[in-house]
Amino acid sequence: MKNVAILGSTGSIGINALKVIEAFPKHFKVVGLSSFSNISLLEKQIIKFNPSYVTVVNPKKSEKLDRSLGKRSLEVLSGEEGLNIIASHSKVDILIIAISGAAAIYPLLAGIEAKKHICLANKESIVMAGSIVMERVKKQGLPLIPVDSEHSAIFQCINSSRTTDVSQLFLTGSGGSLHKTSKSHFSAIRLDQVLKHPKWKMGKKITVDSATLMNKGLEIIEAHHLFNVPIDRIKLLIHPEAVIHSMCEFVDGSVIAQLGITDMKLPIQFALTYPDRRETPFERLDFTNIKSFSFEQPNIMKYPCLSLAMAAAKIGGTATAVLNAVDEIAVEAFLNGKIGFLKIPAIIEKVLLNHRYVESPTLDQIFESDKWAREESARFI
Ligand code: NAD
Ligand code: MG
Repeated sequence: MKNVAILGSTGSIGINALKVIEAFPKHFKVVGLSSFSNISLLEKQIIKFNPSYVTVVNPKKSEKLDRSLGKRSLEVLSGEEGLNIIASHSKVDILIIAISGAAAIYPLLAGIEAKKHICLANKESIVMAGSIVMERVKKQGLPLIPVDSEHSAIFQCINSSRTTDVSQLFLTGSGGSLHKTSKSHFSAIRLDQVLKHPKWKMGKKITVDSATLMNKGLEIIEAHHLFNVPIDRIKLLIHPEAVIHSMCEFVDGSVIAQLGITDMKLPIQFALTYPDRRETPFERLDFTNIKSFSFEQPNIMKYPCLSLAMAAAKIGGTATAVLNAVDEIAVEAFLNGKIGFLKIPAIIEKVLLNHRYVESPTLDQIFESDKWAREESARFI
């Protein structure tokens, strides 16, 4: 029996992770949960899974939760410190990082330091500080098991092969909610249209990123760090059927792909049980239902966020932390109705152009750039 903590348990990945754990009651027990502020759902999860520790990042909400739970044998922590306590707690064997945004970086580093089996869904932390994170992972001799479906696919395709035998990675993407919408409609596009993803049900931030293709840009940077493959050897392929979750081409010309249904429970289960595999209690891929496989080149003119992400990736250093921070701010402003859809790439471009990047930054310099980018972005909203 392995003890599992899920940071960000009230989000889309967190909820799916709890469904996987529920399907394997003999193998996994929930010991820690966290939410930013959704205490009503967190309370339901506490009653059902009976963890020993929970963190509510917003301190005012954490007081409310404490009172309402009465005499349950549960320690309620709060703030970012609470996340770090759970991430490094001796009772935790497996740590699932399902927090969205740059806030995941601290508990991720705490979990690495404490040598946890880490299932990483969060991509922003890698985009922000991938070199430092991977250096620490290597030093600790740990595998960092990706949950992002494309990276889970690549991890499985590479398996025990040497990275030097990889010639290129094909990172696939369904194209997001606006794949079939002409760019001429983008200026008047509504939030509800952007949030209607054809293949995946996910949190709002990543769904907007999927519509701008920023999500694919972030994923190319994520793959570069996780698998130590140069950016120019990671190719994006639009694959609207979303059956192939990514592929790896080796130096001898052989290509290995990973296929499966579009359900995040699959990569979550893989990451939890790794290096073992367990019988799936979920749906399986039915090949007789697949009429065709198609692949397209991404349309760079239609999606400026993709070129901006590639430009930041090539610069490297603090540029990707800035890219991530300005994207978080711009997407939040779009979600709150403060800016239109086309303003997202416009703001990202302005902030990236104003940034004086540092080539090999320390963690402090990365955090400074993140803070600067958030303040600078606010000027354009
Ligand atoms: P979500 O918005 O549905 O959930 C986010 C979770 O993080 C919630 O529990 C929330 O309370 C918590 N949270 C938010 N801000 C926080 C903060 N500042 N401090 C602490 N906790 C905070 O997001 P999601 O779709 O589940 O995505 C989570 C992460 O996984 C993201 O990094 C995303 O890119 C990645 N991811 C998600 C999917 C998916 O299918 N949803 C797929 C691949 C990768
Ligand atoms: Mg993905």
